[in-house]
Amino acid sequence: MVSGFGLVRPPALASATLGRDEAFRLDPERQKETWATARVVVLDTEGRAPIVPPGPPRARRAGEVGRPGAAAPEAEATAARLVTRAGADLAGAPPDDAVLLGETDGTVYWAARVDHPREAGPAGEAGDEAARWLSLAMIGGDLGPLDAALLTTAIALLTWHDRARFCARDGSPTRMAKAGWSRVCAAARHEEFPRTDPAIICLVHDGADQVLLARQATWPAGRLSVLAGFVEAGESLEACVAREIAEEVGVDVSDVRYLGSQAWPFPRSLMLAFHAVADPEVPLWPAEGEIAEARWVHRREVREALGRGDWRRTTDDEPPPLLLPGGSSIARTMIESWAAVPPAGLLPRRIIVDDLTGPEVAAFLREHIDEMRAVTPPHSKHALDLPGLRVPEVTFWTMLEGDTIVATGALKALDAEHAEVKSMRTHPARKRQGIATLMLEHLLAEARRMGFRRLSLETGSFAFFAPARALYARHGFEARGPFGDYQEDPNSVYLTRTI
Ligand SMILES: [Zn+2]
Repeated sequence: MVSGFGLVRPPALASATLGRDEAFRLDPERQKETWATARVVVLDTEGRAPIVPPGPPRARRAGEVGRPGAAAPEAEATAARLVTRAGADLAGAPPDDAVLLGETDGTVYWAARVDHPREAGPAGEAGDEAARWLSLAMIGGDLGPLDAALLTTAIALLTWHDRARFCARDGSPTRMAKAGWSRVCAAARHEEFPRTDPAIICLVHDGADQVLLARQATWPAGRLSVLAGFVEAGESLEACVAREIAEEVGVDVSDVRYLGSQAWPFPRSLMLAFHAVADPEVPLWPAEGEIAEARWVHRREVREALGRGDWRRTTDDEPPPLLLPGGSSIARTMIESWAAVPPAGLLPRRIIVDDLTGPEVAAFLREHIDEMRAVTPPHSKHALDLPGLRVPEVTFWTMLEGDTIVATGALKALDAEHAEVKSMRTHPARKRQGIATLMLEHLLAEARRMGFRRLSLETGSFAFFAPARALYARHGFEARGPFGDYQEDPNSVYLTRTI
């Protein structure tokens, strides 16, 4: 089924794993011994780091050696590059406010704040003339995996230290411990560890070719993304997904599934990515003041936007194109991954006139009868069984995806101009994905082609049938009294329209 998809690659900030080593954090001797040759990720007070922006591939200069753990020369030539400093160039021993990131591929990495003028400019003092002070959120998608992981961890850890200077329990000052991996308070030695706040981010799709994207009120026109929000105290991730989507755009989701995660240290989020299915026919209600715009976007339009790149300029006359989130965000990875799924036509979908002789359609109709029996009082049940459908006045259609029946529908001639809609059923796994709409539109077209002037139907009056009643209302059906042989029945609703 199309609703199954995974991330096509790891999120940009989660592509490499740092060598986190708790014993090393507790070993000041080893920290001092390795300091001189350690590499230090330096951050300014804005959280920016010296980075050589991505450029066209260049030949490696004579005598130039790749950094330990760096990507292959070919990749390094085009990726942005984090410029680190040697420990020995900064200080004779690990400074008190430096944090130990860990040891990866034989190199020890630390992180520390440095002073520099606030305006972004050349960062040549880091040893590379081409370096600029750049932010992870802007450039993370262009960094190699290890650089992205180093910078993400450095920002997460140093930002936490800035905000954890006093004990949350007694308000006394705290000091750094474990080479930056905890803080301990002066009054009672309460220990606190680097904090991370879970946030969900969910790609809502229709199970076919549409994705629900929204624009936050603070974003420029044209910029859309998937929906996200913070997990509340005591809440499960699944409940958070359902609540956030309902709050932000007013739709209910089903089939919530986990995709992946990455840290988003602005200041201390962990983005937990999901996808879920919603009905594109349900009206959207963007949350006032929070969501400026929400709409269903076809996969084709998403692919065009991805192909166009992020920062295409437009003239004032031109409507802004669809602008998608940047490459460092997990939202970007989610959208790219969904866009890579073959269209719903992966399994060719077709609607055929069914002679009702196959075992599959018999089973599908038996489930329909059982469902109706379960939710409808016996005397109010009007679903036709196989013998009732194998009559000349009934034409029966089956919608197939591959060889699987996903929906059925039928027309029963009442007279030369009037037909009744029967046997409308969608496979439970394919509900709320627009399938019933396709079948109903097919029936309307076929009824016109067959010369009917009016379509009527009976459906249930209680909650189970609310989606069906909404579907018919959207297609112009209105309530009227019983037709044909039907009698007044509080369990039934009779709908009709001219065609
Ligand atoms: Zn304390």
